[in-house]
Amino acid sequence: MRYVIPRGIVYHKVSEDIIAALTATYKNLEQESVIKDFEQKFAKYIGSNYALAFPFARTAIYAALKVRNIPKGSEIIMPPITIKGILDVVLDLDLHPVFVDIDLDTLCFNPEGINEAISPKTKSIIITYLYGIVPNIEEILNICNQNNIFVIEDFSQCLNGTFKNKKAGSYGNVGVYSSSSTKTLDTYGGGLLVCNDNKLYNKLCNFQASLKTPSRLNLISKIITDLTRNLATTRSIFHFIVFPLIKIATRIKPGSSIKHTGNRDQKMLKSLPAIWFERYTSFQAYQGLKFIDRVNKTDEERIKNVGYIKSLISGGKFPKELSYSKNIYWQFVVFFKNPIAAQRLMQKMGVDTSTTSLLKISSLESYPYHGETPNADYLYNHGLFTPSYPSLTDEDLNDISKAVNSCIRDENCNNW
Ligand SMILES: *Cc1c(COP(=O)(O)O)cnc(C)c1O
Repeated sequence: MRYVIPRGIVYHKVSEDIIAALTATYKNLEQESVIKDFEQKFAKYIGSNYALAFPFARTAIYAALKVRNIPKGSEIIMPPITIKGILDVVLDLDLHPVFVDIDLDTLCFNPEGINEAISPKTKSIIITYLYGIVPNIEEILNICNQNNIFVIEDFSQCLNGTFKNKKAGSYGNVGVYSSSSTKTLDTYGGGLLVCNDNKLYNKLCNFQASLKTPSRLNLISKIITDLTRNLATTRSIFHFIVFPLIKIATRIKPGSSIKHTGNRDQKMLKSLPAIWFERYTSFQAYQGLKFIDRVNKTDEERIKNVGYIKSLISGGKFPKELSYSKNIYWQFVVFFKNPIAAQRLMQKMGVDTSTTSLLKISSLESYPYHGETPNADYLYNHGLFTPSYPSLTDEDLNDISKAVNSCIRDENCNNW
C-alpha cells in the first residue's frame, strides 16, 4: 500500500522534537556564550561579518529600522506578500508602507516597479525572497544604492540561495532570517540578523541587550507546535488520520483546508505584543548549532527533487531560475487557474497540496495602507505548493509529477 504524500514537513526528526520538549522544561535558557557561538557560526555561514539573534524575524526588522533612526513618516518599500508582523512593526515605527508588485518569474520586486515607487521620502526597502527563488539582486541593489535606500533582505524562505555565488542575505545593509517552524533551519522560533557594518552592529547589540527575559512557556509551546506538525505529517499518521480529515473539510467547504499551516489572523494590532521583545534563548541557539550542519544536504535533496518533477511535467507554469541564481525552492510553486480544483484532483491521486499561509498585506481590509499588486494577486490566488521536500522517494516524485500533469491537462483546474 502507498501512503498519501503530505503537503510539507518539519525539518527535524520527531524524536528530536520530543527530546527538545522534555529538556526545555529545565535547561538554562540564558547562556550567553552559546548564543554568541551560534551567531558567529551563522554569520560565517552566510558570509557576513556579524550576526545577532532575536526572538522573531519581525523583531530583527524592527531593531534595524529603529537603530537606523529613520524619520517618522518616511516611506518604506514593502513586499505585497509576507507575514503580517512585518507590516505591524513598520506601522508601529510610524513609517509609511509602499507596496511594490512582484515579478512572476522571480516572485520578487522588478526593478522598474522599484524605480516607479521611489520618492524623496523613500528611506528603506524590504526585499523578500519568496519560496526560495533568487531574483537579479544586483540590479535591485543598484537602484537602492543610487537612491541611498537602507536595504533589508528577508531571506527566511531562501537560506542558501545565491546570486553569483554570494548568498541571499549578504547583499543588503542587513539580512534577516526567520528560524521558525517549517523553515529549512528551524530553531523553534527566532530571527537572525546579519550585517557587515560595525557601527550598525554595535547599535543592534544595545537593542538586543534591552530585550526582556525569555519565557520558558513560550519556548515550550513553540516546540509543541513543531512536534504536532511533525507528527501530523508523519506518513502513516497523515494517511490514516490527518488526510481523511482534510478530505472531509474539503468536501464540506472547498478551499477550507488549503492554507499551508492554516488561516491567520488579519485584524490590525493596537500595540505590539510583549513576546516579540523577549530575548532569543541559548536553548534555541544550541539547537541551531546542531541543525545548521545538515541544511546543505537537505537543500540539495530538495533542489534535486524539484528538478526531477520539472523534468516529468509538461506545459506547467512555475517560477524561473535566472542564469546567475541558485534557487533553493523552499516550496515548489506551480500556477493553476483553479488551485482549489487542483487540490481536489491531486487529493484523489494521493497527493496533498496547499497554498501559502502568508498574507497579502497589500490589501488587508483592517489596515489603512493598500497597493495595486496584480502579480502578487496572481501568485496569491493561483500558486499551489507541490511537495518536493527531501524525504520523498522516487516513487513519490513520480506520483507527484503524474498528479501535476493531470491537473495541467484538466479543464476544471487549468482552463486559463
Ligand atoms: C516565516 C517567515 C517570516 C517569519 O517571521 P517571524 O517574525 O520570525 O515569525 C518572515 N518572513 C517570511 C518571508 C517568512 O516566510
